[in-house]
Amino acid sequence: QWIYLNGEYVTKENAKISVFDHGFLYGDGIFEGIRIYDGNIFRCKEHLDRLYDSAKSIMLDIPLSYGEMQDALVETIRKNGMRNGYIRLVVSRGPGNLGLDPTRCPAAFVVIIVEELAIYPEEAYREGLRSVSVSPRRNLPDALNPKIKSLNYLNNILVKIQSNLAGVGEAIMLNSQGFVAEGSSDNIFIVKRGVVYTPPCYIGALEGITRGAIIDLCDRLGYKLKEEPFTLHDVYTADEAFFTGTAAEVIAVREVDGRVIGQGQAGPITTHLLQEFRKIVTVEGVK
Ligand code: PLP
Repeated sequence: QWIYLNGEYVTKENAKISVFDHGFLYGDGIFEGIRIYDGNIFRCKEHLDRLYDSAKSIMLDIPLSYGEMQDALVETIRKNGMRNGYIRLVVSRGPGNLGLDPTRCPAAFVVIIVEELAIYPEEAYREGLRSVSVSPRRNLPDALNPKIKSLNYLNNILVKIQSNLAGVGEAIMLNSQGFVAEGSSDNIFIVKRGVVYTPPCYIGALEGITRGAIIDLCDRLGYKLKEEPFTLHDVYTADEAFFTGTAAEVIAVREVDGRVIGQGQAGPITTHLLQEFRKIVTVEGVK
Protein backbone atom coordinates (compact mmCIF):
# COMPACT_ATOMS: atom_id res chain seq x y z
CA GLN A 1 0.00 0.00 0.00
CA TRP A 2 1.39 3.37 -1.08
CA ILE A 3 0.56 6.47 0.90
CA TYR A 4 0.94 10.00 -0.44
CA LEU A 5 2.84 11.82 2.29
CA ASN A 6 3.29 15.49 1.48
CA GLY A 7 4.64 15.02 -2.02
CA GLU A 8 6.23 11.60 -1.60
CA TYR A 9 4.90 8.09 -1.95
CA VAL A 10 5.86 5.92 0.99
CA THR A 11 4.84 2.51 2.27
CA LYS A 12 2.31 2.20 5.08
CA GLU A 13 5.09 1.41 7.59
CA ASN A 14 6.93 4.59 6.63
CA ALA A 15 3.87 6.84 6.60
CA LYS A 16 4.57 8.87 9.77
CA ILE A 17 3.75 12.40 10.85
CA SER A 18 5.36 14.69 13.40
CA VAL A 19 4.09 14.72 16.99
CA PHE A 20 4.20 18.52 16.61
CA ASP A 21 1.66 18.45 13.79
CA HIS A 22 -1.31 20.52 14.87
CA GLY A 23 -3.63 18.02 13.22
CA PHE A 24 -2.43 15.62 15.93
CA LEU A 25 -2.11 18.15 18.78
CA TYR A 26 -5.35 20.05 18.22
CA GLY A 27 -7.36 18.42 15.45
CA ASP A 28 -6.44 21.47 13.41
CA GLY A 29 -7.04 20.46 9.83
CA ILE A 30 -9.62 19.21 7.37
CA PHE A 31 -10.35 16.03 5.49
CA GLU A 32 -12.38 14.32 2.83
CA GLY A 33 -13.61 10.77 2.40
CA ILE A 34 -14.08 9.92 -1.27
CA ARG A 35 -15.17 6.77 -3.11
CA ILE A 36 -13.65 5.14 -6.16
CA TYR A 37 -16.14 3.10 -8.14
CA ASP A 38 -14.81 1.10 -11.07
CA GLY A 39 -11.77 3.38 -11.28
CA ASN A 40 -13.92 6.48 -11.17
CA ILE A 41 -13.47 9.12 -8.42
CA PHE A 42 -17.10 9.82 -7.55
CA ARG A 43 -17.95 13.52 -7.55
CA CYS A 44 -14.28 14.47 -7.29
CA LYS A 45 -14.97 18.12 -8.03
CA GLU A 46 -17.57 18.37 -5.26
CA HIS A 47 -15.17 16.82 -2.75
CA LEU A 48 -12.33 19.13 -3.77
CA ASP A 49 -14.65 22.14 -3.69
CA ARG A 50 -15.66 21.25 -0.13
CA LEU A 51 -12.01 20.71 0.84
CA TYR A 52 -10.81 24.03 -0.57
CA ASP A 53 -13.80 25.87 0.93
CA SER A 54 -13.11 24.31 4.34
CA ALA A 55 -9.44 25.35 3.99
CA LYS A 56 -10.37 28.91 3.11
CA SER A 57 -12.76 29.14 6.02
CA ILE A 58 -10.10 28.11 8.56
CA MET A 59 -7.31 30.11 6.82
CA LEU A 60 -5.36 27.02 5.86
CA ASP A 61 -3.17 27.26 2.78
CA ILE A 62 -3.26 23.99 0.88
CA PRO A 63 0.20 23.64 -0.69
CA LEU A 64 -1.22 22.05 -3.86
CA SER A 65 -3.31 23.70 -6.53
CA TYR A 66 -6.68 22.17 -7.28
CA GLY A 67 -5.27 20.47 -10.39
CA GLU A 68 -2.21 19.19 -8.51
CA MET A 69 -4.46 17.76 -5.82
CA GLN A 70 -6.57 15.93 -8.36
CA ASP A 71 -3.40 14.57 -10.00
CA ALA A 72 -2.13 13.41 -6.60
CA LEU A 73 -5.42 11.54 -6.00
CA VAL A 74 -5.30 9.89 -9.42
CA GLU A 75 -1.65 8.93 -9.01
CA THR A 76 -2.17 7.47 -5.52
CA ILE A 77 -5.04 5.36 -6.83
CA ARG A 78 -2.96 4.25 -9.83
CA LYS A 79 0.06 3.33 -7.70
CA ASN A 80 -2.16 1.17 -5.51
CA GLY A 81 -3.93 -0.43 -8.47
CA MET A 82 -7.24 0.42 -6.85
CA ARG A 83 -10.48 0.13 -8.88
CA ASN A 84 -12.97 0.18 -6.03
CA GLY A 85 -12.25 1.64 -2.65
CA TYR A 86 -12.09 4.63 -0.40
CA ILE A 87 -9.77 7.64 -0.41
CA ARG A 88 -8.96 9.54 2.76
CA LEU A 89 -7.51 12.95 2.01
CA VAL A 90 -6.23 14.88 5.03
CA VAL A 91 -4.75 18.36 5.13
CA SER A 92 -3.45 19.26 8.58
CA ARG A 93 -2.08 22.60 9.75
CA GLY A 94 1.31 20.90 9.77
CA PRO A 95 4.10 20.88 12.36
CA GLY A 96 4.41 23.85 14.69
CA ASN A 97 5.20 24.34 18.34
CA LEU A 98 3.11 23.36 21.36
CA GLY A 99 1.09 26.58 21.35
CA LEU A 100 -2.11 26.50 19.38
CA ASP A 101 -1.25 29.54 17.25
CA PRO A 102 -1.54 28.37 13.63
CA THR A 103 0.82 31.11 12.44
CA ARG A 104 3.60 29.08 14.06
CA CYS A 105 2.95 26.26 11.61
CA PRO A 106 4.78 27.25 8.43
CA ALA A 107 3.30 24.67 6.05
CA ALA A 108 0.19 22.52 5.85
CA PHE A 109 0.72 18.78 5.50
CA VAL A 110 -1.14 16.62 2.96
CA VAL A 111 -1.82 12.90 3.30
CA ILE A 112 -3.70 10.65 0.87
CA ILE A 113 -4.57 7.09 1.82
CA VAL A 114 -6.48 4.69 -0.41
CA GLU A 115 -7.96 1.56 1.06
CA GLU A 116 -10.44 -1.20 0.52
CA LEU A 117 -13.68 -0.38 2.20
CA ALA A 118 -15.36 -2.45 4.90
CA ILE A 119 -18.97 -1.47 4.36
CA TYR A 120 -22.23 -2.83 5.68
CA PRO A 121 -23.18 -6.30 4.46
CA GLU A 122 -25.62 -6.28 1.55
CA GLU A 123 -28.51 -7.58 3.69
CA ALA A 124 -28.24 -4.47 5.87
CA TYR A 125 -29.33 -2.45 2.82
CA ARG A 126 -32.50 -4.55 2.55
CA GLU A 127 -33.22 -4.98 6.24
CA GLY A 128 -32.18 -1.53 7.43
CA LEU A 129 -30.11 -0.47 10.43
CA ARG A 130 -31.26 -0.03 13.98
CA SER A 131 -30.50 3.41 15.37
CA VAL A 132 -30.75 5.46 18.55
CA SER A 133 -30.93 9.19 19.10
CA VAL A 134 -28.24 10.93 21.07
CA SER A 135 -29.31 13.78 23.29
CA PRO A 136 -27.61 17.17 23.11
CA ARG A 137 -24.22 17.47 24.72
CA ARG A 138 -21.68 20.23 25.17
CA ASN A 139 -20.07 19.79 21.76
CA LEU A 140 -23.10 20.23 19.58
CA PRO A 141 -23.21 19.54 15.86
CA ASP A 142 -24.28 23.14 15.23
CA ALA A 143 -21.64 24.69 17.51
CA LEU A 144 -19.02 24.78 14.76
CA ASN A 145 -19.91 25.73 11.24
CA PRO A 146 -21.13 22.37 9.99
CA LYS A 147 -19.91 23.13 6.48
CA ILE A 148 -16.28 22.81 7.60
CA LYS A 149 -15.23 19.18 7.39
CA SER A 150 -12.66 19.59 10.12
CA LEU A 151 -10.52 17.05 11.94
CA ASN A 152 -12.41 17.86 15.17
CA TYR A 153 -14.47 14.70 15.29
CA LEU A 154 -14.61 14.13 19.02
CA ASN A 155 -18.31 14.86 19.13
CA ASN A 156 -18.95 12.36 16.35
CA ILE A 157 -16.75 9.82 18.13
CA LEU A 158 -18.76 10.25 21.35
CA VAL A 159 -21.88 9.61 19.30
CA LYS A 160 -20.28 6.52 17.78
CA ILE A 161 -19.41 5.28 21.28
CA GLN A 162 -23.06 5.66 22.26
CA SER A 163 -24.25 3.83 19.17
CA ASN A 164 -21.76 1.04 19.89
CA LEU A 165 -23.01 0.80 23.48
CA ALA A 166 -26.57 0.59 22.19
CA GLY A 167 -25.50 -2.10 19.71
CA VAL A 168 -26.78 -0.20 16.67
CA GLY A 169 -25.20 0.76 13.36
CA GLU A 170 -25.49 4.53 13.49
CA ALA A 171 -26.90 7.12 15.90
CA ILE A 172 -28.91 10.27 15.25
CA MET A 173 -27.49 13.54 16.59
CA LEU A 174 -29.76 16.30 17.73
CA ASN A 175 -28.70 19.93 17.64
CA SER A 176 -28.82 22.44 20.51
CA GLN A 177 -32.53 23.07 19.92
CA GLY A 178 -33.43 19.42 19.74
CA PHE A 179 -33.82 19.22 15.97
CA VAL A 180 -32.52 16.18 14.14
CA ALA A 181 -29.12 17.03 12.62
CA GLU A 182 -27.30 13.98 11.22
CA GLY A 183 -25.60 10.72 12.12
CA SER A 184 -22.03 10.34 13.40
CA SER A 185 -20.77 10.17 9.83
CA ASP A 186 -23.88 10.25 7.67
CA ASN A 187 -26.68 12.60 6.73
CA ILE A 188 -30.24 11.63 7.49
CA PHE A 189 -33.41 11.58 5.40
CA ILE A 190 -36.99 10.59 6.17
CA VAL A 191 -39.95 9.89 3.89
CA LYS A 192 -43.52 10.71 4.86
CA ARG A 193 -46.52 10.36 2.55
CA GLY A 194 -44.28 10.24 -0.50
CA VAL A 195 -42.32 13.40 0.40
CA VAL A 196 -38.60 13.13 1.16
CA TYR A 197 -37.22 15.34 3.95
CA THR A 198 -33.68 16.14 5.06
CA PRO A 199 -32.55 18.75 7.60
CA PRO A 200 -31.05 21.94 6.17
CA CYS A 201 -27.30 22.08 6.85
CA TYR A 202 -27.53 25.12 9.14
CA ILE A 203 -29.23 22.82 11.66
CA GLY A 204 -25.79 21.25 12.21
CA ALA A 205 -25.31 18.81 9.37
CA LEU A 206 -22.41 18.45 7.00
CA GLU A 207 -23.27 19.30 3.41
CA GLY A 208 -22.72 15.70 2.39
CA ILE A 209 -21.77 14.86 -1.18
CA THR A 210 -24.01 11.79 -1.06
CA ARG A 211 -26.77 13.98 0.38
CA GLY A 212 -26.33 16.26 -2.63
CA ALA A 213 -26.46 13.31 -5.02
CA ILE A 214 -29.71 12.09 -3.41
CA ILE A 215 -31.24 15.57 -3.64
CA ASP A 216 -30.34 15.60 -7.36
CA LEU A 217 -31.78 12.10 -7.82
CA CYS A 218 -35.06 13.04 -6.11
CA ASP A 219 -35.36 15.89 -8.54
CA ARG A 220 -34.61 13.68 -11.54
CA LEU A 221 -36.88 10.85 -10.41
CA GLY A 222 -39.76 13.16 -9.54
CA TYR A 223 -39.79 12.76 -5.75
CA LYS A 224 -40.74 15.89 -3.88
CA LEU A 225 -37.91 16.87 -1.53
CA LYS A 226 -38.00 19.36 1.30
CA GLU A 227 -35.01 20.64 3.23
CA GLU A 228 -36.63 21.57 6.51
CA PRO A 229 -36.02 21.09 10.23
CA PHE A 230 -37.75 18.13 11.86
CA THR A 231 -37.80 16.42 15.23
CA LEU A 232 -37.51 12.87 16.53
CA HIS A 233 -41.31 12.64 16.49
CA ASP A 234 -41.17 13.02 12.69
CA VAL A 235 -38.52 10.30 12.48
CA TYR A 236 -40.52 7.88 14.69
CA THR A 237 -43.65 8.40 12.59
CA ALA A 238 -41.96 8.41 9.17
CA ASP A 239 -42.81 5.83 6.53
CA GLU A 240 -39.13 5.43 5.71
CA ALA A 241 -35.80 6.72 7.01
CA PHE A 242 -32.29 6.37 5.67
CA PHE A 243 -28.73 7.59 6.14
CA THR A 244 -26.46 8.76 3.33
CA GLY A 245 -22.69 8.95 3.30
CA THR A 246 -19.65 8.24 1.20
CA ALA A 247 -18.98 4.95 2.98
CA ALA A 248 -22.58 3.92 3.75
CA GLU A 249 -24.09 5.08 0.41
CA VAL A 250 -27.87 4.98 1.05
CA ILE A 251 -28.79 2.76 3.97
CA ALA A 252 -32.26 2.26 5.36
CA VAL A 253 -33.11 2.66 9.04
CA ARG A 254 -35.63 0.15 10.34
CA GLU A 255 -35.82 1.17 13.98
CA VAL A 256 -35.08 4.30 16.02
CA ASP A 257 -35.14 4.32 19.85
CA GLY A 258 -37.22 1.12 19.78
CA ARG A 259 -39.83 2.52 17.37
CA VAL A 260 -40.20 0.54 14.17
CA ILE A 261 -39.98 2.77 11.12
CA GLY A 262 -42.57 2.00 8.44
CA GLN A 263 -42.58 -1.71 7.65
CA GLY A 264 -39.34 -2.31 9.57
CA GLN A 265 -37.22 -2.79 6.46
CA ALA A 266 -35.92 -0.71 3.56
CA GLY A 267 -38.91 1.08 2.10
CA PRO A 268 -39.70 1.47 -1.62
CA ILE A 269 -38.36 5.01 -2.06
CA THR A 270 -35.16 4.23 -0.13
CA THR A 271 -34.64 1.11 -2.24
CA HIS A 272 -35.28 3.00 -5.46
CA LEU A 273 -32.86 5.79 -4.50
CA LEU A 274 -30.15 3.26 -3.59
CA GLN A 275 -30.58 1.48 -6.95
CA GLU A 276 -30.38 4.72 -8.88
CA PHE A 277 -27.46 5.95 -6.77
CA ARG A 278 -25.51 2.80 -7.61
CA LYS A 279 -26.11 3.47 -11.29
CA ILE A 280 -24.65 6.97 -11.25
CA VAL A 281 -21.56 6.27 -9.15
CA THR A 282 -19.59 4.62 -11.92
CA VAL A 283 -20.27 7.30 -14.48
CA GLU A 284 -20.05 10.60 -12.60
CA GLY A 285 -16.65 11.92 -11.66
CA VAL A 286 -13.03 11.63 -12.70
CA LYS A 287 -11.56 8.55 -14.41
N1 PLP B 1 -22.00 13.97 8.20
C1 PLP B 1 -20.81 13.75 8.77
C2 PLP B 1 -20.56 14.25 10.13
C3 PLP B 1 -19.81 13.05 8.06
O1 PLP B 1 -18.62 12.84 8.60
C4 PLP B 1 -20.10 12.56 6.76
C5 PLP B 1 -19.11 11.78 6.02
O2 PLP B 1 -18.17 12.21 5.54
C6 PLP B 1 -21.36 12.81 6.21
C7 PLP B 1 -22.29 13.52 6.96
C8 PLP B 1 -21.71 12.36 4.83
O3 PLP B 1 -21.06 13.16 3.88
P1 PLP B 1 -20.59 12.58 2.48
O4 PLP B 1 -21.82 12.13 1.78
O5 PLP B 1 -19.93 13.74 1.81
O6 PLP B 1 -19.67 11.46 2.76
